[in-house]
Amino acid sequence: MAYTFRGGIHVNEYKLSSESPIELLPDPSEVRISMNQHIGTPAVVCVNAGDKVEIGRVIGDVPKEALGCPVHASVSGTVKAIESSLVSAGVTETYVVIESDGEGRLCDSVKPYGGSILDADAEKIAGVVRSAGITGMGGAAFPTYAKILSAAGKAELLIVNCAECEPFITSDHRVLLEKSAAVIGGVKTLMKAVGSPRAYVAIEDNKPHAIKKMTEVLENDSMIDVKIMKTKYPQGDERQLIFALTGRELAAGKLPVDAGCVIFNAATCAAVYEAFLDGTPLVRRVVTVSGDCVKEPKNLSVPIGTPASALAEYCGGFVKDPAKIVFGGPMMGLAQWDADAPVKKNTSSILFLSNEFLGKPSSSQTCIRCGRCVANCPMRLMPAYIAQSVMRDDIKGAERYGAMSCVECGCCSYNCPGKVEIVQYIRTAKNRIRSEAARSRSSANDK
Ligand code: SF4
Ligand code: SF4
Repeated sequence: MAYTFRGGIHVNEYKLSSESPIELLPDPSEVRISMNQHIGTPAVVCVNAGDKVEIGRVIGDVPKEALGCPVHASVSGTVKAIESSLVSAGVTETYVVIESDGEGRLCDSVKPYGGSILDADAEKIAGVVRSAGITGMGGAAFPTYAKILSAAGKAELLIVNCAECEPFITSDHRVLLEKSAAVIGGVKTLMKAVGSPRAYVAIEDNKPHAIKKMTEVLENDSMIDVKIMKTKYPQGDERQLIFALTGRELAAGKLPVDAGCVIFNAATCAAVYEAFLDGTPLVRRVVTVSGDCVKEPKNLSVPIGTPASALAEYCGGFVKDPAKIVFGGPMMGLAQWDADAPVKKNTSSILFLSNEFLGKPSSSQTCIRCGRCVANCPMRLMPAYIAQSVMRDDIKGAERYGAMSCVECGCCSYNCPGKVEIVQYIRTAKNRIRSEAARSRSSANDK
């Protein structure tokens, strides 16, 4: 029987590119590499316009004591500009723009790890992972070295998150099929780092080829098991994964390590392996290019910083006009206003969606008290009550109903017959609760 969690929803899968092998996108003529590619302190640019760079050269870094990791050049060429712009998330980001010379020259610093991983401790492995600029590639972009250090000696179970439960996205599916040795190499390295004696590779049951492949690869391995998960959204959410596999529940504000677990995405594991094998930092990633507007949906290995428009062009362009460009999945992804928005380390997919697909937004939002949002919420919240508190401008009430425990999965809004934009109301509540907390901290510091 497949493992699962309580609540959640069944969404149309639209896995249009699941049979498309990973293709290598040739270097674009120009990349724009953001300094905000991880949770924590943004990287500070350490090159100047006019500098010559090679693949793997550090172009931005973060002080050692801060949370964050370096950013590397993903093509060889010349730094054309250092620029800042406002992005869809509402913040200003700094970019290093590199004009590619098309030569694909590697930086001298890109070298295989010289020693044996068996002799390396958590600090050593985390150091290599930090230098390679590896962040979680499934979406959250938490620096992987920091996750290793926080879980070292505390995690009895390492979980490889291969759920890929959002519609359209197939990049991890293809990584499991085509880079299975790298994924497992990374899992073993991370198990050594955190001291975990056991690992589960958790795959949803809508990916039978990946389950078969990983089961074959792990046939003689007594420490790593493949676990088959029920296809249900949001199966890839860390709390749901832990509950489904161990029955352990995480209270609000707790981390996976508090339940004895640490979770890494499949592509992140492969990136860790590659950092040790040949010293390659995180300068390329596999991106699913899909949506009802794309002529040939594909999975592409692309340099970080490649504009979304170049990926669409490689996929044959559009069969109809896209009304929305989304980085990530349609449930939790971020809509972009710029067709040239660049790929980041956590861009698992770029979707081009038409008005026809998106449907008309409803002008009226009326709760009919059906209770469906409560039944679907995997965090067991009462989403309608939180939304109604926000509508009344009662942010304290929204907090009392547990707004901060919401993981913003969108299950509540998805099936709401009253067309209430529940998640938007909850996001508003969370932002206002955070701002209020920051204001209180700052006035306490001023006293
Ligand atoms: S699903 Fe929509 S209509 Fe039903 S209780 Fe929740 S908010 Fe109200
Ligand atoms: S309230 Fe939050 S966690 Fe619950 S279904 Fe809605 S978005 Fe998901």
